[in-house]
Amino acid sequence: MTARRASGLLSLVVSLATILMISPFTPSSPAWAASTAGNLPAEIAAHFTPDDVARGRAYMGGRYRLFAAGIALRLAILLLLVGTPASAALRNLAVRLAPAHPAVAVAVYLALLVLIFELLALPLGYYAGFVREHAFGLSTQTRAAWLVDRIKSLLLTLALAVPLGSLLALLWRRYPGRWVLPAWGLVAAAMVLLVMLAPIVIDPLFNTIRPLRDPDLRQRVIALAGRAGVPVDQVYEMDASRRTRKGNAYFTGLGRTKRIVLYDTLLAGSSPDEVELVVAHEIGHWKRAHIWKGIGLSLLGMGIALWCAARTLDWAVRRGGFHLAGPADVAGLPLFLLVLFVLNLVSLPIQNGISRYFEREADRTSLGLTGNATAFIRSEVQLARSNLADLTPPPAVVWLLYTHPPVAERIRLAGEDAGRTRARP
Ligand SMILES: [Zn+2]
Repeated sequence: MTARRASGLLSLVVSLATILMISPFTPSSPAWAASTAGNLPAEIAAHFTPDDVARGRAYMGGRYRLFAAGIALRLAILLLLVGTPASAALRNLAVRLAPAHPAVAVAVYLALLVLIFELLALPLGYYAGFVREHAFGLSTQTRAAWLVDRIKSLLLTLALAVPLGSLLALLWRRYPGRWVLPAWGLVAAAMVLLVMLAPIVIDPLFNTIRPLRDPDLRQRVIALAGRAGVPVDQVYEMDASRRTRKGNAYFTGLGRTKRIVLYDTLLAGSSPDEVELVVAHEIGHWKRAHIWKGIGLSLLGMGIALWCAARTLDWAVRRGGFHLAGPADVAGLPLFLLVLFVLNLVSLPIQNGISRYFEREADRTSLGLTGNATAFIRSEVQLARSNLADLTPPPAVVWLLYTHPPVAERIRLAGEDAGRTRARP
């Protein structure tokens, strides 16, 4: 079988799988319900109703399937671009639009590529991000507001992908056969810059973010940070309620842009004790330098991925049949992206395993700082309920997809911590 026929067949299989996965549109299958009914973990049975369990399972079961569908869809688009003359045709069109300016032609090609992905992913994105979120009573957005968000994201993607892709194509031309190292440097610089600037340049495009207003809460946060030995004037609140009823908080930025951001939905739905626990968890990420460690690990993965992509591109040019004019042909970008995509996918369990390890560390820090296991459990229960968490996720799904330990495990951790505290003389 030729490479072209093989990838044509593969994309057909992937497309069929996509249709099969999203066609029922029923959030939960009976087989799923039967597999977990009747043997709830003690932590879940003690804090949640059967209705909480059913709602979480219905919501998240569909999310898992949509995640798989999104992956299948992207994979299918990439395989079609790699296995057919589509990418070369796109490059020819870009050259015709800007015949005298090779750099502009590359930029046009990149923009067309981004637009194709956006257009093909839009129906699934609309269903997952708007229709379904409304069906479960989680979204507070109008259709127009959702669309404005989507357009902003698209413009942001263009603003990042076009210059970065252009620089990569330049490195392909300038350093044939040895572009991996300079490309790695480019990625490292872009990553650090992006993490540093995101809180002050990107996040405000989508939300209003301002310093925590509640004076009592501020006081408690300052005291907490004092105990933890971290600077605290960087605790912010964000108007997440313009989009969702879900509660959350996150730690972001580097150097002077470092900050903890709390959703206003979290502040509205939690007692000060519970908010304090969430802040203590984010302080845990801060204290243990999880952002720097994350960047380091991403760069390690990126180095391996770039090396593999370079070897694959070399092989494709030598072998022929991929419609590439040479090793520096920008039409090879979908193959480059395919290698990165597949490697990212197969390393997902490792990435998420590390993320869950970091989350456990942050949980332990929060329990150590506050000594308040009861509030930890209350806050966990409150967030799980408002976010429709899957309270009994299949272990394989946790292993593959979960960036945080499941609710039962986090409650168990708090219980053990409380036990240890009581046992101290
Ligand atoms: Zn966390």
